[in-house]
Amino acid sequence: MSTDTATTPAPQSFEFQAEIKQLLDIVIHSLYTEKEIFVRELVSNASDASEKLRHLQLTEKAIHDADRPLEITVTTDEKAKTLVIEDAGLGMTGEELVKYLGTIAHSGSKAFLKALTEGGQKNSNLIGQFGVGFYAAFMAAKQVEVFSKSWQIDAPAHVWTSEGAGTYTLAPAPEFTTRGTRIVLHLKDEAEDFAKKWRIEEILKKYSAFVSFPIKLDGEVVNTVQALWLRSKNEITDEEYTAFYKFQSHAYDEPRLRYHFTADAPLQIASILFVPKDNPEKFGMQRAEPAVSLYCRKVLIDAKPKDLLPEWLRFLKGVVDSEDLPLHISRETMQDKALLEKIGKTVTSRFLKFLADEAKARAESYDEFFSEFGVFLKEGAALDWTHKDALVKLLRYESTFTEAGKTTSLSDYVSRLKEGQTEIYYLSGPNRAAIESGPYLEGLKARGLEVLFCVEAVDEYVMNNVREFDGKKLVAADSPDAKLPEAPKPPSAEGDLSEDQVKALAEWLKTTLGDRVTEVKASERLVDSPALAISADRMMTPQMRRMMKAMKKDEPEAPVKVSLELNPRHAVIKRLATLREGNAERATLVAEQILDNALIAAGLFEDPSKMVARLYKLLEQA
Ligand code: ADP
Ligand code: MG
Repeated sequence: MSTDTATTPAPQSFEFQAEIKQLLDIVIHSLYTEKEIFVRELVSNASDASEKLRHLQLTEKAIHDADRPLEITVTTDEKAKTLVIEDAGLGMTGEELVKYLGTIAHSGSKAFLKALTEGGQKNSNLIGQFGVGFYAAFMAAKQVEVFSKSWQIDAPAHVWTSEGAGTYTLAPAPEFTTRGTRIVLHLKDEAEDFAKKWRIEEILKKYSAFVSFPIKLDGEVVNTVQALWLRSKNEITDEEYTAFYKFQSHAYDEPRLRYHFTADAPLQIASILFVPKDNPEKFGMQRAEPAVSLYCRKVLIDAKPKDLLPEWLRFLKGVVDSEDLPLHISRETMQDKALLEKIGKTVTSRFLKFLADEAKARAESYDEFFSEFGVFLKEGAALDWTHKDALVKLLRYESTFTEAGKTTSLSDYVSRLKEGQTEIYYLSGPNRAAIESGPYLEGLKARGLEVLFCVEAVDEYVMNNVREFDGKKLVAADSPDAKLPEAPKPPSAEGDLSEDQVKALAEWLKTTLGDRVTEVKASERLVDSPALAISADRMMTPQMRRMMKAMKKDEPEAPVKVSLELNPRHAVIKRLATLREGNAERATLVAEQILDNALIAAGLFEDPSKMVARLYKLLEQA
């Protein structure tokens, strides 16, 4: 290969992607006071690159500079006002420099920009909250040079240069022959402190304590390579745990919960697990990726192992270290997969036990956790047969026996069962108020039965899958399956319909309403409302119907079929019985309206056009 500089092509100029320009503009002009975080970002990139190289060493035979030690060197030069950060990691080819440093890939900076456009918060705060990755360098540097030589034997080295304005250049750098990346920061005048050794030492100690490669500052190693999870719990401070969380998960928040444990049998495991502050999928953001890293004796095996923990634990961060893993674990072989699963199962059981303890010891904080992350536990309860029992115990619902905003567990529900009650009742709806105002609660309330409120989209699915708890069936109170125990008969009042009259009315209604109802009968559930509708198809709940409708947009939908239940003690029904004999035409209009009202309450009403016309007719006659 020729190294003749005379034939070296001139630097090529490139424009940054629009988003990066926006980001750089903010970074450069921000008044963010903790500019020092740029050191953290660059060192963490150096550490990532070294970690990636360690991995390549397991699979690749030909690696440039194979014997170069994986360490990070930081050099200050007060006179030249430069700071240099160099690693022996996997390096970047010219193409990769353009791709990784010229376009926005980093999720932190993406989230940052999103928050900026949506939030309208102070920019400077957001930088600290999200981290802006590599581009943070431009907070302190007026010019940044990135020399890089890829691990691939024949890939030529390049230098990437930018002032952080709209453009950067890329040029060959044949003089840069060692594998890895060297970042040279030419500091701004107001940032010249970052060329002082003591200042950088202070920053490295603060942010980079957990980097698992030696960091040499002007020739001296400044970090003690340590694995927090292998240390004893009572030696570790809260601050250390939080710092570790931030470093390990590339996070900027404080963890909501943390669990540090070791196990000896059946497997040797040391683990620290963190629950972040917020549900990462809350705002329709991307699905979270597994983020509990797998180590074997302090060596990273896989930062995002797919087969370690069950899917529904994808909100967890942290590390699992097991001495039982072979260092050269390959994720393909069945044997390794089984071992991973075994480790995962142990870790999951321990974590669920931890949550159960939390719920007991700190109920309020557990409730807050549940309102943020409960959706993941529900997913697990519905789909993960291995951990289902433990998960169902962790679920929380509001109920007719709790105040709004307060919840109950299924165990507590069961402890309050009425005599003779063999089922656990729930009702689904968009929110508590909507369920409370529907007709289905009346009969249960009259019997003193507790009803759980299911207000999240997944709840119905969860209930259908979980099916029973502690030997009691979970039953939708508005389904034909709900078998309510005998209720005390209300005292008879004047004008009550006789059994025969009710039967005759029901028969007339069935004929009059025709296909729209499968059955009409007197109800045991009603107290205050005249009628209610129950979907004839048990599986075809309002939620299910909406889902089907969304899936099969263009197909004509099957008509709703319901069974109609009457409250024979209700004035409207009594009047209808008389009206039917006097004015059959008007009685038909009223009957249809009663059915529509019941459908509305059931969330099954679909075509308002006929109803409006009918209502006008009724009003005319009134
Ligand atoms: P992130 O580290 O979160 O991916 P950054 O903005 O810090 O985001 O970096 C962007 C990308 O640039 C990295 O994902 C990586 O591919 C590449 N990169 C940055 N620094 C280095 C380095 N020292 N060695 C190799 N690649 C690097
Ligand atoms: Mg980074």
